[in-house]
Amino acid sequence: MPEPETASVDRPDTAGRSGPPVAYTEGAARYYGSGAAEVRALDGVDVAFGAGEFTAIMGPSGSGKSTLMHCMAGLDTVTSGKVFIDGDDVTAMSDRERTMLRRDKLGFVFQAFNLVPTLSARENIVLPQRLAGNDPDEAWLDEVVATVGLGNRLSHRPNELSGGQQQRVAVSRALVSKPKMVFADEPTGNLDSTTSDEILAFMRRAVDDLAQTIVMVTHDPSAAAYAHRVVFLVDGKIVNEMADPTSDAVLDHMKTLGN
Ligand code: ADP
Ligand code: MG
Repeated sequence: MPEPETASVDRPDTAGRSGPPVAYTEGAARYYGSGAAEVRALDGVDVAFGAGEFTAIMGPSGSGKSTLMHCMAGLDTVTSGKVFIDGDDVTAMSDRERTMLRRDKLGFVFQAFNLVPTLSARENIVLPQRLAGNDPDEAWLDEVVATVGLGNRLSHRPNELSGGQQQRVAVSRALVSKPKMVFADEPTGNLDSTTSDEILAFMRRAVDDLAQTIVMVTHDPSAAAYAHRVVFLVDGKIVNEMADPTSDAVLDHMKTLGN
């Protein structure tokens, strides 16, 4: 097995694969509670995500993966440090500005899908763009829907779809506006391996063919192997990175983290 390629993590400016960072943090920290009950969910994270890069975030349960995603996507706020998206300091934004940032530049895929039960698959997919007052690009919508294999299910409501189909709707919703950046928090956590592979291959194609930038949390080494790079978090800190991961190399590294 090839030796995993590891790199020092204190060089966020060099982390971009094919372009300058679309998103990066500087000393991002998020503490919950105070005094003896204080939890350091993020404890000084410097990380950068380059344009056209697919990054997997891994780490034990409670290591701060979701907190990092939420703070970067403007769904939560850091206690200290900074987060930049597309050149703008998210930590200096008002609630309203963060909402507009999410609407205009970001896609987010939740583990629990978060679909609107009363809307069809198609209506769910275009909802963020409708809310933003934009018309979806129909040709691209057709391509996304065909690629994720939802073509004949578009008029169905979420409760008429399998878990895999619901997640395809959620991934389509995140990609259809061609956002600057997609954050996906364990997007395949509830799916069987065949469906996972299809969704992951689709996400990788969106990165390779369309220069989409994606950051994905996963606990699954075979999911991480679809990424260009894996960043490992432990106790709210980045402890390592791996370029061009294979599932074996990721699994070996996870053992050293005591996972
Ligand atoms: P992961 O996604 O890696 O499992 P999280 O980012 O969800 O980890 O959580 C990191 C740590 O922060 C955990 O110890 C968790 O209990 C704590 N935490 C997360 N959100 C909150 C919150 N809203 N209030 C208090 N503690 C929280
Ligand atoms: Mg989590």
